[in-house]
Amino acid sequence: MSTNSPLPASDVPKIRIRSCNSVGLNADGRFVLYWMTAFRRANWNFALDRAVDWAKHLQKPLVVVESLGCGSRWASARHHRFAMQGMAENARQFAQGPVYYHPYLETIAGEARDFFAALAHSACLVVTDDYPLPSDLDPEPWAADLPIQLEKVDGNGILPMNAAEKAFETAYAFRRFLQSHLREHLLDFPKANPFSRLKIPLLKRLPTEIASRWKPAKIAALVEKKCTLGYLPIDRSVESVELHGGIKAASAALTRFLRHRLPIYREKRGDAAKDASSGLSPYLHFGHISSHEIFRALARREAWTPDRLAEKASGRREGWWGMSQPSEAFLDELITWRELGYNFCRHRYDYASFDSLPDWAIKTLKKHAKDMRKYVYSFDGFESAATHDPLWNAAQRQLTRAGTIHNYLRMLWGKKILEWTAGPREAAEIMIELNNKYALDGGDPNSYSGIFWVLGRYDRPWGPERPIFGTVRYMSSTNAARKMRVAEYIESYS
Ligand SMILES: Cc1cc2nc3c(=O)[nH]c(=O)nc-3n(C[C@H](O)[C@H](O)[C@H](O)COP(=O)(O)OP(=O)(O)OC[C@H]3O[C@@H](n4cnc5c(N)ncnc54)[C@H](O)[C@@H]3O)c2cc1C
Repeated sequence: MSTNSPLPASDVPKIRIRSCNSVGLNADGRFVLYWMTAFRRANWNFALDRAVDWAKHLQKPLVVVESLGCGSRWASARHHRFAMQGMAENARQFAQGPVYYHPYLETIAGEARDFFAALAHSACLVVTDDYPLPSDLDPEPWAADLPIQLEKVDGNGILPMNAAEKAFETAYAFRRFLQSHLREHLLDFPKANPFSRLKIPLLKRLPTEIASRWKPAKIAALVEKKCTLGYLPIDRSVESVELHGGIKAASAALTRFLRHRLPIYREKRGDAAKDASSGLSPYLHFGHISSHEIFRALARREAWTPDRLAEKASGRREGWWGMSQPSEAFLDELITWRELGYNFCRHRYDYASFDSLPDWAIKTLKKHAKDMRKYVYSFDGFESAATHDPLWNAAQRQLTRAGTIHNYLRMLWGKKILEWTAGPREAAEIMIELNNKYALDGGDPNSYSGIFWVLGRYDRPWGPERPIFGTVRYMSSTNAARKMRVAEYIESYS
Protein backbone atom coordinates (compact mmCIF):
# COMPACT_ATOMS: atom_id res chain seq x y z
CA MET A 1 0.00 0.00 0.00
CA SER A 2 1.47 3.35 -1.00
CA THR A 3 0.44 6.73 0.36
CA ASN A 4 0.00 10.22 -1.11
CA SER A 5 -0.64 9.02 -4.60
CA PRO A 6 0.07 11.67 -7.21
CA LEU A 7 -2.92 12.80 -9.26
CA PRO A 8 -2.81 11.53 -12.82
CA ALA A 9 -2.96 14.02 -15.65
CA SER A 10 -6.66 14.73 -15.83
CA ASP A 11 -9.03 16.91 -17.80
CA VAL A 12 -11.26 17.15 -14.75
CA PRO A 13 -10.71 20.55 -13.14
CA LYS A 14 -8.99 20.29 -9.76
CA ILE A 15 -11.60 22.53 -8.19
CA ARG A 16 -14.16 19.76 -8.73
CA ILE A 17 -12.11 17.06 -7.01
CA ARG A 18 -12.09 16.56 -3.26
CA SER A 19 -9.95 14.04 -1.44
CA CYS A 20 -11.89 12.55 1.50
CA ASN A 21 -9.11 10.74 3.34
CA SER A 22 -5.34 10.75 3.60
CA VAL A 23 -4.80 7.15 2.54
CA GLY A 24 -3.06 6.43 -0.76
CA LEU A 25 -4.11 4.14 -3.53
CA ASN A 26 -3.69 0.40 -3.47
CA ALA A 27 -1.46 -0.34 -6.44
CA ASP A 28 -2.21 -4.06 -6.03
CA GLY A 29 -5.95 -3.48 -6.28
CA ARG A 30 -7.84 -5.21 -9.07
CA PHE A 31 -9.82 -2.28 -10.43
CA VAL A 32 -10.72 1.37 -10.11
CA LEU A 33 -14.16 1.74 -8.55
CA TYR A 34 -16.63 4.45 -9.51
CA TRP A 35 -19.39 4.32 -6.87
CA MET A 36 -22.18 6.17 -8.68
CA THR A 37 -24.90 7.62 -6.46
CA ALA A 38 -26.06 10.91 -7.98
CA PHE A 39 -24.74 11.56 -11.51
CA ARG A 40 -26.49 8.53 -12.98
CA ARG A 41 -25.19 8.78 -16.54
CA ALA A 42 -22.55 7.31 -18.83
CA ASN A 43 -21.72 10.62 -20.49
CA TRP A 44 -21.13 14.31 -19.63
CA ASN A 45 -20.01 13.23 -16.17
CA PHE A 46 -16.89 14.63 -14.51
CA ALA A 47 -16.87 11.86 -11.87
CA LEU A 48 -16.89 9.19 -14.58
CA ASP A 49 -14.16 11.07 -16.46
CA ARG A 50 -12.06 11.13 -13.33
CA ALA A 51 -12.49 7.39 -12.75
CA VAL A 52 -11.58 6.76 -16.40
CA ASP A 53 -8.44 8.89 -15.98
CA TRP A 54 -7.37 6.81 -12.99
CA ALA A 55 -8.07 3.54 -14.82
CA LYS A 56 -5.97 4.73 -17.78
CA HIS A 57 -3.18 5.96 -15.52
CA LEU A 58 -3.03 2.68 -13.57
CA GLN A 59 -3.98 0.49 -16.57
CA LYS A 60 -6.56 -1.23 -14.39
CA PRO A 61 -10.15 -2.19 -15.23
CA LEU A 62 -12.92 0.24 -14.39
CA VAL A 63 -15.87 -0.95 -12.31
CA VAL A 64 -18.92 1.29 -12.22
CA VAL A 65 -21.39 0.43 -9.47
CA GLU A 66 -24.60 2.41 -9.72
CA SER A 67 -26.34 2.07 -6.40
CA LEU A 68 -29.92 2.73 -5.43
CA GLY A 69 -30.67 2.74 -1.71
CA CYS A 70 -33.94 1.81 -0.05
CA GLY A 71 -33.36 3.57 3.28
CA SER A 72 -34.25 7.10 2.30
CA ARG A 73 -37.35 8.63 3.91
CA TRP A 74 -39.03 9.01 0.54
CA ALA A 75 -37.93 5.83 -1.27
CA SER A 76 -40.94 4.78 -3.35
CA ALA A 77 -41.96 2.79 -6.41
CA ARG A 78 -42.22 6.08 -8.30
CA HIS A 79 -38.64 7.18 -7.66
CA HIS A 80 -37.18 3.69 -7.82
CA ARG A 81 -38.80 2.86 -11.16
CA PHE A 82 -37.56 6.10 -12.72
CA ALA A 83 -34.02 5.53 -11.42
CA MET A 84 -34.11 1.88 -12.55
CA GLN A 85 -35.22 2.85 -16.05
CA GLY A 86 -32.07 4.98 -16.02
CA MET A 87 -30.03 1.98 -14.87
CA ALA A 88 -31.40 -0.17 -17.71
CA GLU A 89 -30.28 2.49 -20.17
CA ASN A 90 -26.91 2.89 -18.43
CA ALA A 91 -26.35 -0.87 -18.71
CA ARG A 92 -26.69 -0.49 -22.50
CA GLN A 93 -24.43 2.55 -22.60
CA PHE A 94 -21.67 1.09 -20.44
CA ALA A 95 -21.70 -2.11 -22.50
CA GLN A 96 -20.26 0.01 -25.33
CA GLY A 97 -17.07 0.74 -23.39
CA PRO A 98 -14.39 -1.34 -21.67
CA VAL A 99 -16.25 -1.01 -18.38
CA TYR A 100 -17.77 -3.46 -15.93
CA TYR A 101 -21.16 -1.99 -14.93
CA HIS A 102 -22.99 -3.31 -11.90
CA PRO A 103 -26.50 -2.00 -11.16
CA TYR A 104 -27.01 -2.46 -7.44
CA LEU A 105 -30.37 -2.31 -5.63
CA GLU A 106 -30.21 -2.21 -1.89
CA THR A 107 -32.82 -4.62 -0.46
CA ILE A 108 -32.20 -3.98 3.25
CA ALA A 109 -31.55 -0.43 4.37
CA GLY A 110 -27.87 0.01 5.21
CA GLU A 111 -26.56 -3.08 3.41
CA ALA A 112 -24.88 -0.92 0.74
CA ARG A 113 -22.16 -0.17 3.24
CA ASP A 114 -21.06 -3.82 3.42
CA PHE A 115 -21.06 -4.12 -0.37
CA PHE A 116 -19.04 -0.93 -0.63
CA ALA A 117 -16.53 -2.15 1.99
CA ALA A 118 -16.07 -5.46 0.15
CA LEU A 119 -15.49 -3.66 -3.15
CA ALA A 120 -13.12 -1.18 -1.57
CA HIS A 121 -10.90 -4.02 -0.32
CA SER A 122 -10.34 -5.17 -3.89
CA ALA A 123 -10.08 -1.73 -5.47
CA CYS A 124 -7.11 0.55 -6.18
CA LEU A 125 -9.12 3.62 -5.21
CA VAL A 126 -12.69 4.88 -5.21
CA VAL A 127 -14.23 7.81 -7.06
CA THR A 128 -17.72 8.91 -6.08
CA ASP A 129 -20.22 11.72 -6.67
CA ASP A 130 -20.00 14.93 -4.67
CA TYR A 131 -23.65 15.88 -4.17
CA PRO A 132 -24.63 18.62 -1.73
CA LEU A 133 -27.40 16.74 0.10
CA PRO A 134 -26.77 13.90 2.56
CA SER A 135 -27.37 10.35 1.31
CA ASP A 136 -27.03 7.02 3.05
CA LEU A 137 -25.11 5.78 0.00
CA ASP A 138 -22.46 8.46 0.47
CA PRO A 139 -19.19 6.74 1.43
CA GLU A 140 -17.60 9.90 2.86
CA PRO A 141 -18.74 9.15 6.44
CA TRP A 142 -17.07 5.72 6.06
CA ALA A 143 -13.83 7.20 4.71
CA ALA A 144 -11.93 6.98 8.02
CA ASP A 145 -12.18 3.14 7.94
CA LEU A 146 -11.32 2.88 4.27
CA PRO A 147 -8.04 1.19 3.36
CA ILE A 148 -7.81 3.18 0.13
CA GLN A 149 -8.10 6.64 -1.34
CA LEU A 150 -11.59 8.13 -1.74
CA GLU A 151 -12.18 11.03 -4.09
CA LYS A 152 -15.38 12.94 -4.56
CA VAL A 153 -16.03 14.71 -7.82
CA ASP A 154 -18.52 17.52 -8.37
CA GLY A 155 -20.58 17.08 -11.52
CA ASN A 156 -23.57 19.06 -10.31
CA GLY A 157 -23.57 22.15 -12.44
CA ILE A 158 -21.69 24.63 -14.58
CA LEU A 159 -20.19 26.47 -11.62
CA PRO A 160 -18.09 24.13 -9.47
CA MET A 161 -19.57 24.20 -5.96
CA ASN A 162 -16.12 24.99 -4.53
CA ALA A 163 -15.88 28.18 -6.59
CA ALA A 164 -18.14 30.00 -4.12
CA GLU A 165 -17.08 30.22 -0.49
CA LYS A 166 -20.43 31.12 1.01
CA ALA A 167 -24.17 30.69 0.58
CA PHE A 168 -25.84 33.45 -1.42
CA GLU A 169 -29.02 34.99 -0.04
CA THR A 170 -30.47 36.37 -3.26
CA ALA A 171 -30.57 35.28 -6.89
CA TYR A 172 -29.31 38.75 -7.82
CA ALA A 173 -26.14 38.42 -5.70
CA PHE A 174 -25.51 34.91 -7.00
CA ARG A 175 -26.08 36.01 -10.60
CA ARG A 176 -23.54 38.81 -10.18
CA PHE A 177 -21.10 36.28 -8.77
CA LEU A 178 -21.73 33.97 -11.72
CA GLN A 179 -21.25 36.80 -14.18
CA SER A 180 -17.85 37.53 -12.61
CA HIS A 181 -16.66 33.94 -12.20
CA LEU A 182 -18.37 31.64 -14.67
CA ARG A 183 -16.31 32.58 -17.73
CA GLU A 184 -13.30 30.43 -16.79
CA HIS A 185 -15.47 27.39 -16.01
CA LEU A 186 -17.24 27.55 -19.36
CA LEU A 187 -14.10 26.16 -20.94
CA ASP A 188 -14.22 22.97 -18.88
CA PHE A 189 -16.69 20.38 -20.11
CA PRO A 190 -17.03 16.71 -19.20
CA LYS A 191 -16.75 14.25 -22.07
CA ALA A 192 -19.74 13.52 -24.29
CA ASN A 193 -18.21 10.13 -25.06
CA PRO A 194 -15.79 9.09 -22.31
CA PHE A 195 -15.08 5.69 -23.93
CA SER A 196 -13.84 7.03 -27.23
CA ARG A 197 -10.46 5.44 -27.97
CA LEU A 198 -10.26 4.24 -24.37
CA LYS A 199 -7.82 1.37 -23.89
CA ILE A 200 -7.96 -0.24 -20.46
CA PRO A 201 -8.23 -3.86 -19.39
CA LEU A 202 -11.79 -5.12 -19.09
CA LEU A 203 -12.98 -6.92 -15.95
CA LYS A 204 -15.32 -9.77 -16.87
CA ARG A 205 -16.75 -10.35 -13.39
CA LEU A 206 -16.30 -9.19 -9.84
CA PRO A 207 -14.24 -11.37 -7.48
CA THR A 208 -16.34 -14.46 -6.61
CA GLU A 209 -16.62 -13.67 -2.90
CA ILE A 210 -18.30 -10.35 -3.85
CA ALA A 211 -20.27 -11.48 -6.90
CA SER A 212 -21.86 -14.39 -5.07
CA ARG A 213 -23.24 -12.17 -2.31
CA TRP A 214 -24.15 -8.99 -4.19
CA LYS A 215 -25.51 -9.96 -7.57
CA PRO A 216 -26.22 -7.28 -10.15
CA ALA A 217 -29.93 -6.41 -10.21
CA LYS A 218 -31.89 -7.86 -13.12
CA ILE A 219 -32.84 -4.39 -14.19
CA ALA A 220 -34.44 -5.15 -17.55
CA ALA A 221 -37.07 -7.32 -15.82
CA LEU A 222 -37.55 -4.94 -12.92
CA VAL A 223 -38.44 -1.94 -15.04
CA GLU A 224 -41.39 -3.83 -16.55
CA LYS A 225 -44.66 -2.27 -15.40
CA LYS A 226 -46.01 -5.62 -14.23
CA CYS A 227 -43.15 -6.04 -11.78
CA THR A 228 -44.45 -4.74 -8.44
CA LEU A 229 -41.02 -4.28 -6.82
CA GLY A 230 -42.68 -6.21 -4.01
CA TYR A 231 -39.44 -7.41 -2.48
CA LEU A 232 -38.11 -3.91 -1.90
CA PRO A 233 -38.85 -2.17 1.42
CA ILE A 234 -40.05 1.02 -0.26
CA ASP A 235 -43.35 2.91 -0.33
CA ARG A 236 -45.32 1.23 -3.12
CA SER A 237 -48.39 3.41 -2.54
CA VAL A 238 -46.52 6.16 -4.41
CA GLU A 239 -46.88 4.56 -7.80
CA SER A 240 -44.71 4.97 -10.87
CA VAL A 241 -45.74 7.51 -13.49
CA GLU A 242 -45.79 7.68 -17.28
CA LEU A 243 -42.57 9.69 -17.60
CA HIS A 244 -39.68 7.38 -18.47
CA GLY A 245 -36.27 7.80 -16.83
CA GLY A 246 -32.80 7.49 -18.32
CA ILE A 247 -30.28 9.39 -20.41
CA LYS A 248 -31.97 8.60 -23.72
CA ALA A 249 -35.37 9.87 -22.57
CA ALA A 250 -33.65 12.93 -21.08
CA SER A 251 -31.86 13.78 -24.34
CA ALA A 252 -35.11 13.34 -26.25
CA ALA A 253 -36.88 15.71 -23.84
CA LEU A 254 -34.10 18.24 -24.36
CA THR A 255 -34.39 18.01 -28.15
CA ARG A 256 -38.18 18.44 -27.97
CA PHE A 257 -37.81 21.45 -25.69
CA LEU A 258 -35.24 23.20 -27.88
CA ARG A 259 -37.31 22.62 -31.02
CA HIS A 260 -40.81 23.36 -29.85
CA ARG A 261 -40.92 25.15 -26.52
CA LEU A 262 -37.83 27.31 -26.20
CA PRO A 263 -39.14 29.98 -28.61
CA ILE A 264 -42.10 30.64 -26.27
CA TYR A 265 -40.24 29.94 -23.01
CA ARG A 266 -39.71 33.52 -21.92
CA GLU A 267 -43.28 34.69 -22.56
CA LYS A 268 -45.17 31.57 -21.58
CA ARG A 269 -43.19 29.85 -18.82
CA GLY A 270 -45.45 31.39 -16.19
CA ASP A 271 -48.62 30.32 -18.01
CA ALA A 272 -49.91 27.10 -16.51
CA ALA A 273 -52.11 26.52 -19.57
CA LYS A 274 -49.07 26.30 -21.89
CA ASP A 275 -46.40 23.62 -21.87
CA ALA A 276 -43.53 26.05 -22.36
CA SER A 277 -40.96 24.74 -19.91
CA SER A 278 -38.48 21.94 -20.48
CA GLY A 279 -39.77 19.29 -18.07
CA LEU A 280 -36.13 18.41 -17.44
CA SER A 281 -36.15 18.68 -13.64
CA PRO A 282 -36.69 14.94 -12.93
CA TYR A 283 -33.82 14.07 -15.30
CA LEU A 284 -31.58 16.69 -13.75
CA HIS A 285 -32.52 15.47 -10.29
CA PHE A 286 -31.67 11.83 -11.04
CA GLY A 287 -28.50 12.85 -12.86
CA HIS A 288 -29.82 11.44 -16.17
CA ILE A 289 -28.81 14.65 -17.89
CA SER A 290 -26.14 17.18 -17.02
CA SER A 291 -26.46 20.92 -17.31
CA HIS A 292 -23.31 20.79 -19.43
CA GLU A 293 -25.09 18.71 -22.07
CA ILE A 294 -28.05 21.08 -21.99
CA PHE A 295 -25.81 24.14 -22.18
CA ARG A 296 -23.80 22.71 -25.08
CA ALA A 297 -26.98 21.94 -27.07
CA LEU A 298 -28.32 25.44 -26.45
CA ALA A 299 -25.00 27.08 -27.32
CA ARG A 300 -24.84 25.10 -30.59
CA ARG A 301 -28.36 26.18 -31.47
CA GLU A 302 -27.34 29.79 -30.89
CA ALA A 303 -23.97 29.36 -32.69
CA TRP A 304 -22.66 30.86 -29.47
CA THR A 305 -19.02 31.36 -28.50
CA PRO A 306 -17.66 32.65 -25.17
CA ASP A 307 -16.55 35.93 -26.78
CA ARG A 308 -20.23 36.93 -26.76
CA LEU A 309 -20.22 37.19 -22.96
CA ALA A 310 -20.62 40.75 -21.64
CA GLU A 311 -17.53 42.28 -20.07
CA LYS A 312 -19.30 43.58 -16.99
CA ALA A 313 -21.24 41.74 -14.31
CA SER A 314 -24.48 43.65 -13.92
CA GLY A 315 -26.51 41.01 -12.06
CA ARG A 316 -29.25 41.51 -14.67
CA ARG A 317 -31.20 38.51 -15.85
CA GLU A 318 -30.71 39.16 -19.52
CA GLY A 319 -27.88 40.50 -21.63
CA TRP A 320 -24.86 38.80 -20.07
CA TRP A 321 -24.75 35.68 -22.18
CA GLY A 322 -25.11 37.33 -25.57
CA MET A 323 -27.81 34.83 -26.59
CA SER A 324 -31.42 35.24 -27.70
CA GLN A 325 -33.91 36.34 -25.04
CA PRO A 326 -35.62 32.93 -24.65
CA SER A 327 -32.24 31.21 -24.23
CA GLU A 328 -31.09 33.75 -21.66
CA ALA A 329 -34.35 33.33 -19.74
CA PHE A 330 -33.87 29.56 -19.75
CA LEU A 331 -30.23 29.78 -18.65
CA ASP A 332 -31.29 31.99 -15.77
CA GLU A 333 -33.43 29.13 -14.45
CA LEU A 334 -31.03 26.33 -15.36
CA ILE A 335 -27.90 27.99 -14.02
CA THR A 336 -28.74 30.90 -11.69
CA TRP A 337 -31.76 29.42 -9.91
CA ARG A 338 -30.76 25.78 -10.03
CA GLU A 339 -27.20 26.30 -8.89
CA LEU A 340 -28.26 28.83 -6.24
CA GLY A 341 -30.01 25.92 -4.51
CA TYR A 342 -26.90 23.73 -4.79
CA ASN A 343 -24.80 26.57 -3.42
CA PHE A 344 -27.12 26.94 -0.41
CA CYS A 345 -27.19 23.24 0.44
CA ARG A 346 -23.42 22.98 0.12
CA HIS A 347 -22.79 25.79 2.60
CA ARG A 348 -25.80 25.66 4.92
CA TYR A 349 -26.36 22.44 6.83
CA ASP A 350 -29.64 23.96 8.06
CA TYR A 351 -31.01 24.22 4.48
CA ALA A 352 -34.22 22.40 5.49
CA SER A 353 -34.87 24.41 8.63
CA PHE A 354 -37.25 27.32 9.21
CA ASP A 355 -34.37 29.09 10.98
CA SER A 356 -32.39 29.22 7.73
CA LEU A 357 -34.79 31.86 6.39
CA PRO A 358 -33.63 35.47 6.17
CA ASP A 359 -34.11 37.44 9.41
CA TRP A 360 -36.87 39.64 7.97
CA ALA A 361 -38.91 36.57 6.96
CA ILE A 362 -38.49 34.83 10.32
CA LYS A 363 -39.50 38.03 12.11
CA THR A 364 -42.61 38.74 10.07
CA LEU A 365 -43.79 35.09 9.98
CA LYS A 366 -43.32 34.78 13.76
CA LYS A 367 -45.22 38.02 14.30
CA HIS A 368 -48.17 36.58 12.35
CA ALA A 369 -47.83 32.94 13.46
CA LYS A 370 -50.85 33.15 15.76
CA ASP A 371 -53.12 35.09 13.36
CA MET A 372 -56.61 33.68 12.85
CA ARG A 373 -56.73 31.28 9.90
CA LYS A 374 -60.00 30.90 8.02
CA TYR A 375 -59.02 27.35 7.07
CA VAL A 376 -56.58 25.01 8.81
CA TYR A 377 -55.85 21.58 7.37
CA SER A 378 -53.88 18.69 8.77
CA PHE A 379 -51.23 16.86 6.76
CA ASP A 380 -53.85 14.26 5.79
CA GLY A 381 -56.26 16.96 4.63
CA PHE A 382 -53.61 18.33 2.29
CA GLU A 383 -52.36 14.94 1.17
CA SER A 384 -55.84 13.73 0.24
CA ALA A 385 -56.62 16.99 -1.60
CA ALA A 386 -59.56 17.66 0.70
CA THR A 387 -59.34 21.46 0.94
CA HIS A 388 -62.17 23.88 0.07
CA ASP A 389 -60.25 25.12 -3.02
CA PRO A 390 -60.80 23.08 -6.23
CA LEU A 391 -57.74 24.58 -7.93
CA TRP A 392 -55.44 23.67 -5.03
CA ASN A 393 -56.94 20.18 -4.87
CA ALA A 394 -56.33 19.71 -8.59
CA ALA A 395 -52.68 20.74 -8.19
CA GLN A 396 -52.27 18.31 -5.30
CA ARG A 397 -53.87 15.52 -7.34
CA GLN A 398 -51.54 16.28 -10.24
CA LEU A 399 -48.65 15.95 -7.81
CA THR A 400 -49.82 12.64 -6.36
CA ARG A 401 -50.83 11.14 -9.71
CA ALA A 402 -48.32 12.52 -12.19
CA GLY A 403 -45.43 13.46 -9.86
CA THR A 404 -45.28 17.00 -11.16
CA ILE A 405 -46.94 20.44 -10.91
CA HIS A 406 -46.46 23.38 -13.24
CA ASN A 407 -44.02 25.89 -11.72
CA TYR A 408 -46.62 28.66 -11.38
CA LEU A 409 -49.11 26.39 -9.63
CA ARG A 410 -46.32 24.94 -7.52
CA MET A 411 -45.71 28.39 -6.08
CA LEU A 412 -49.43 28.85 -5.42
CA TRP A 413 -49.63 25.34 -3.96
CA GLY A 414 -46.93 26.23 -1.44
CA LYS A 415 -48.33 29.68 -0.59
CA LYS A 416 -51.74 28.16 0.22
CA ILE A 417 -50.14 25.57 2.49
CA LEU A 418 -48.62 28.46 4.40
CA GLU A 419 -52.00 30.20 4.54
CA TRP A 420 -53.97 27.13 5.69
CA THR A 421 -51.61 25.61 8.24
CA ALA A 422 -51.48 26.25 11.99
CA GLY A 423 -48.07 27.96 11.70
CA PRO A 424 -45.16 28.53 9.30
CA ARG A 425 -42.93 25.80 10.76
CA GLU A 426 -45.67 23.23 10.21
CA ALA A 427 -46.19 24.61 6.69
CA ALA A 428 -42.50 24.00 5.89
CA GLU A 429 -42.72 20.43 7.18
CA ILE A 430 -45.88 19.65 5.22
CA MET A 431 -44.45 21.08 1.99
CA ILE A 432 -41.22 19.10 2.40
CA GLU A 433 -43.09 15.87 3.06
CA LEU A 434 -45.59 16.21 0.19
CA ASN A 435 -43.09 17.55 -2.33
CA ASN A 436 -40.40 15.00 -1.64
CA LYS A 437 -42.79 12.08 -1.33
CA TYR A 438 -44.66 12.67 -4.59
CA ALA A 439 -42.67 14.93 -6.92
CA LEU A 440 -40.43 13.06 -9.30
CA ASP A 441 -37.88 15.85 -8.90
CA GLY A 442 -38.35 15.91 -5.09
CA GLY A 443 -35.52 15.55 -2.59
CA ASP A 444 -33.36 17.90 -4.64
CA PRO A 445 -31.55 21.06 -3.47
CA ASN A 446 -34.20 22.89 -5.51
CA SER A 447 -36.98 21.29 -3.51
CA TYR A 448 -35.67 23.31 -0.58
CA SER A 449 -35.15 26.43 -2.72
CA GLY A 450 -38.78 26.29 -3.85
CA ILE A 451 -40.30 25.38 -0.50
CA PHE A 452 -38.34 27.98 1.42
CA TRP A 453 -38.93 30.56 -1.33
CA VAL A 454 -42.60 30.23 -0.38
CA LEU A 455 -41.55 31.37 3.11
CA GLY A 456 -39.26 34.20 1.97
CA ARG A 457 -35.87 32.68 1.04
CA TYR A 458 -34.28 34.56 -1.90
CA ASP A 459 -37.15 37.05 -1.79
CA ARG A 460 -37.67 40.52 -0.29
CA PRO A 461 -40.42 41.97 1.88
CA TRP A 462 -43.59 42.87 -0.04
CA GLY A 463 -46.26 45.31 1.11
CA PRO A 464 -48.94 45.61 2.25
CA GLU A 465 -48.43 43.62 5.46
CA ARG A 466 -51.10 40.92 5.59
CA PRO A 467 -52.43 38.45 8.13
CA ILE A 468 -50.46 35.16 8.31
CA PHE A 469 -47.97 36.21 5.59
CA GLY A 470 -46.81 39.48 7.13
CA THR A 471 -44.56 40.92 4.44
CA VAL A 472 -43.81 37.55 2.80
CA ARG A 473 -45.04 37.59 -0.82
CA TYR A 474 -48.69 36.60 -1.13
CA MET A 475 -50.36 34.75 -4.02
CA SER A 476 -54.06 34.38 -4.64
CA SER A 477 -55.96 31.57 -6.35
CA THR A 478 -58.21 34.16 -8.00
CA ASN A 479 -55.26 35.72 -9.80
CA ALA A 480 -54.12 32.28 -10.88
CA ALA A 481 -57.60 31.55 -12.17
CA ARG A 482 -57.40 34.63 -14.37
CA LYS A 483 -54.11 33.46 -15.83
CA MET A 484 -55.15 29.98 -16.91
CA ARG A 485 -58.01 27.80 -18.08
CA VAL A 486 -58.81 26.65 -14.58
CA ALA A 487 -61.96 24.69 -15.35
CA GLU A 488 -60.14 22.48 -17.82
CA TYR A 489 -57.28 21.89 -15.39
CA ILE A 490 -59.60 21.10 -12.50
CA GLU A 491 -61.56 18.73 -14.73
CA SER A 492 -58.42 16.82 -15.72
CA TYR A 493 -57.49 16.30 -12.06
CA SER A 494 -60.91 15.73 -10.57
C1 LIG B 1 -43.00 24.83 -3.58
C2 LIG B 1 -41.98 24.53 -4.64
C3 LIG B 1 -41.35 23.30 -4.68
C4 LIG B 1 -40.39 23.02 -5.65
N1 LIG B 1 -39.80 21.79 -5.63
C5 LIG B 1 -38.86 21.49 -6.57
C6 LIG B 1 -38.24 20.20 -6.57
O1 LIG B 1 -38.58 19.33 -5.76
N2 LIG B 1 -37.28 19.95 -7.51
C7 LIG B 1 -36.93 20.88 -8.45
O2 LIG B 1 -36.06 20.61 -9.29
N3 LIG B 1 -37.50 22.11 -8.47
C8 LIG B 1 -38.46 22.44 -7.57
N4 LIG B 1 -39.06 23.66 -7.60
C9 LIG B 1 -38.61 24.66 -8.60
C10 LIG B 1 -39.36 24.63 -9.95
O3 LIG B 1 -40.74 24.54 -9.70
C11 LIG B 1 -38.95 23.47 -10.84
O4 LIG B 1 -37.55 23.38 -10.92
C12 LIG B 1 -39.48 23.63 -12.27
O5 LIG B 1 -40.86 23.83 -12.26
C13 LIG B 1 -39.14 22.39 -13.05
O6 LIG B 1 -39.78 22.39 -14.30
P1 LIG B 1 -38.92 22.42 -15.66
O7 LIG B 1 -37.87 21.39 -15.60
O8 LIG B 1 -39.90 22.37 -16.78
O9 LIG B 1 -38.25 23.86 -15.53
P2 LIG B 1 -37.66 24.84 -16.63
O10 LIG B 1 -38.39 26.12 -16.52
O11 LIG B 1 -37.59 24.21 -17.96
O12 LIG B 1 -36.19 25.14 -16.07
C14 LIG B 1 -35.05 24.33 -16.39
C15 LIG B 1 -34.40 23.87 -15.10
O13 LIG B 1 -34.01 24.99 -14.30
C16 LIG B 1 -34.20 24.68 -12.92
N5 LIG B 1 -35.23 25.55 -12.36
C17 LIG B 1 -36.30 26.09 -12.97
N6 LIG B 1 -37.01 26.85 -12.13
C18 LIG B 1 -36.38 26.80 -10.93
C19 LIG B 1 -36.62 27.38 -9.67
N7 LIG B 1 -37.65 28.19 -9.45
N8 LIG B 1 -35.77 27.11 -8.68
C20 LIG B 1 -34.70 26.31 -8.88
N9 LIG B 1 -34.40 25.75 -10.06
C21 LIG B 1 -35.24 25.97 -11.07
C22 LIG B 1 -34.69 23.24 -12.85
O14 LIG B 1 -33.59 22.39 -12.67
C23 LIG B 1 -35.34 23.06 -14.22
O15 LIG B 1 -35.43 21.72 -14.63
C24 LIG B 1 -40.04 23.98 -6.62
C25 LIG B 1 -40.69 25.22 -6.60
C26 LIG B 1 -41.64 25.49 -5.63
C27 LIG B 1 -42.31 26.83 -5.62
